[in-house]
Amino acid sequence: MQALQKTTAAFGLELRDVPAPHAPADGEVIVEVAAAGICGSDVHIYDWSGGYDFLKSAFPVTIGHEFAGRVIETGGNVGALAIGQPVVVIPSVECGVCEACRSGSVDACRDRRGIGMLRDGGFARTVRVPAANCLTLPDDIDLGIAALGEPLSIAMSAVKTAEVAAGDRVLVMGPGTIGQGIALLASVRGARVVVVGYDDAGRLETVRALGIEHTFDLCEHALADVKTRTGIDEFDVVIEATGVPSTVQAGLDCLKPSGVFVICGIHGKPVSFDAAKLVRNRHQIRGTYRATRATWAEVRDFVVAQQARLAPMVTHRLPLADAIDGFEMARNKIGSKILLLP
Ligand SMILES: [Zn+2]
Ligand SMILES: [Zn+2]
Repeated sequence: MQALQKTTAAFGLELRDVPAPHAPADGEVIVEVAAAGICGSDVHIYDWSGGYDFLKSAFPVTIGHEFAGRVIETGGNVGALAIGQPVVVIPSVECGVCEACRSGSVDACRDRRGIGMLRDGGFARTVRVPAANCLTLPDDIDLGIAALGEPLSIAMSAVKTAEVAAGDRVLVMGPGTIGQGIALLASVRGARVVVVGYDDAGRLETVRALGIEHTFDLCEHALADVKTRTGIDEFDVVIEATGVPSTVQAGLDCLKPSGVFVICGIHGKPVSFDAAKLVRNRHQIRGTYRATRATWAEVRDFVVAQQARLAPMVTHRLPLADAIDGFEMARNKIGSKILLLP
């Protein structure tokens, strides 16, 4: 079968002919991938611009960690998972042997192997995954929308970490898929949401298509314009989903005293900010990352209930053969979520 693989520690990805995964062991299934999203981290792996050296030990590896599909083969002990079952896959696989795993606190496992990172992922026709990582979906779901589960799980974790409540004024920095998800989930909680991006007209348009009225492209507007145009003087919550170091100070400057600043972007470089100002304003900085199993279950339910509302987030669906075109589009911020259909 064809698979999109990372083979060397240099720019690029290779579409290669590889053997199909071996038969599923106990507790495993084979999923036929219907759709797999290109994530910002996949683009970093393609670019090889730093931060993913840990992948080298797994080369050659099929990437792709945001995917949904159908179970086509099962090993033993896979619970209720039957052939044909549509599923979205949680891409983080716990070790199963550490103290946390043995005591049942899988969310605390520190020795994970990511599907599409350290083991073969979803940019291929089929992939072998643990049954425990499959969340079942109804038959009539659009599996392309279901493939948004992973970025939405990050977004939901960020909104929970920020403790967004009804009436909160929330500034989201970064209009990528995760920022879009944060904006949508915060507005579902009743927050007043503003989203800013930089030279990002297309993705800000997607944000508006999700029903978020206030968006600003900071290559046309100063952050100060946000105040005059929205009447919001300061924010209760700022969530940064850019990974651009300068956004941290800029975001803190928009936050009310005792407000919460959540960092969700992956920063390739250390970030500096005015700590005295932070202290005097009693600002709270929080980090957020991979979702817990409980959050994933909520995300699955949200995706099932809100399929139509999420539809604007997916702007392109390409065959796997056009993967490199898709990566170039993602790199150049053309469209929003680009799905590959293996
Ligand atoms: Zn992702
Ligand atoms: Zn473990």
